[in-house]
Amino acid sequence: MDYLSEHRFRGIEKFKEKIWLSSPTIHGDEQKWVDHALRTNWVSTVGENIDVIERETAEKIGRKYSVGLSCGTAAIHLAIRILAEKLYGVPELGHGALEGKRVFAADMTFSATANPITYEGGTPVFIDAEYETWNMDPEALKKAFEKYPDVKLIVTAHLYGTPGKLDEIRKIANEHGAYIIEDAAESFTATYKGKQTGAFGDISIISWNGNKLITGSSGGMLLTDEEEWAKKARKWSTQSRDTAPWYQHSELGFNYRMSNIIAGIVRGQLPYVDEHRKQKEAIWNRYKEGLKDLPVSMNPIDFENSEPNYWLSCILIDKAAMCEMHRDDYNTTYVYEQGKSCPTEILEALAAFNAEGRPIWKPMHLQPFFAKSDFITAKEDRSDNGPSDNGSDIFERGLCLPSDNKITPKQQDVIIEIIHRCFE
Ligand SMILES: *Cc1c(COP(=O)(O)O)cnc(C)c1O
Repeated sequence: MDYLSEHRFRGIEKFKEKIWLSSPTIHGDEQKWVDHALRTNWVSTVGENIDVIERETAEKIGRKYSVGLSCGTAAIHLAIRILAEKLYGVPELGHGALEGKRVFAADMTFSATANPITYEGGTPVFIDAEYETWNMDPEALKKAFEKYPDVKLIVTAHLYGTPGKLDEIRKIANEHGAYIIEDAAESFTATYKGKQTGAFGDISIISWNGNKLITGSSGGMLLTDEEEWAKKARKWSTQSRDTAPWYQHSELGFNYRMSNIIAGIVRGQLPYVDEHRKQKEAIWNRYKEGLKDLPVSMNPIDFENSEPNYWLSCILIDKAAMCEMHRDDYNTTYVYEQGKSCPTEILEALAAFNAEGRPIWKPMHLQPFFAKSDFITAKEDRSDNGPSDNGSDIFERGLCLPSDNKITPKQQDVIIEIIHRCFE
């Protein structure tokens, strides 16, 4: 469909510069600390920038230890390997630490939450999302333990910066003696009952990927209160060198340590994290206000228990207002219907006007790669003939809107207008 020339969209001009979903915002201080690393010749995986950001993130989040790594995915991998060895012992040469073991993982999330389970030869069992925060559903988790009572590891995430039901998940984990890995990659600065996300997992992680609230261009942190685990993460991330006069290894090594240059960018970004969060909050509120006359709702926030970081603004279209939409593994189409719309139509229209939206994370149990993994949902009422689980339903009816912290109110008004026209 040629949205630009369509009568419905008359009078709206294409954005001259692209409106991004969420792009890095550089302030200038980053240069100072990168230069500092270069000038002092500390350009490798040791240096003041790393020390400073490890101290500052541990303090901010309220953890004893923080370890700088090459990315959030690496942090999840090390967290999994550390806890798997603790649970099941050191694997034999040539084997993963999770072989033959199942791990419960959030279903509706980025694949990085679950992939490291398979790096260690484990099998993820995906746990459906709930509608109140779009994160792991404690009811589904309970059901999962009924089916697989031996599972000892849970990987949960906080989607789009909104904390999940941490108390409920922790209670269930404790009843089964299971560890929690908390993927707080998207939720840095969000709080649950007054405590920062990243402080709830036995091991937690955050990410400095380019589209997160602040960035190092890449990078991530592993967070824990256990000294032994922090030490392991440090040692393993630098190829597991023993203290010997030569390169000696008594454990498997990884090249996962953060560089002091990357840490310099993060160091320059850290003072701006609250500013970014406030901008994201204003964006979410502006969408909520601007779209309130449409049959859509914003991504849910459990205001009673949590304060999100508003990383991305998302909407969910009411069931009755969805036009017919088709998706296979690679393509999507829809059938225009007056008064209705769907994610495909809105995302295509936004793209035509040079703005970037995104579908909701496609649930892991719908991913071709994870086709053989088990999936547990607590959804039982199928009377609406809709998808048979919550995650698929949110994926079908939801989308992420342009949430770049540099978007102006005027630009956002145009986005809001485009979405209105989609329903005309
Ligand atoms: C971004 C992200 C990650 C991975 O972070 P990287 O630093 O890019 O490896 C993990 N989990 C979730 C939910 C994310 O959004």
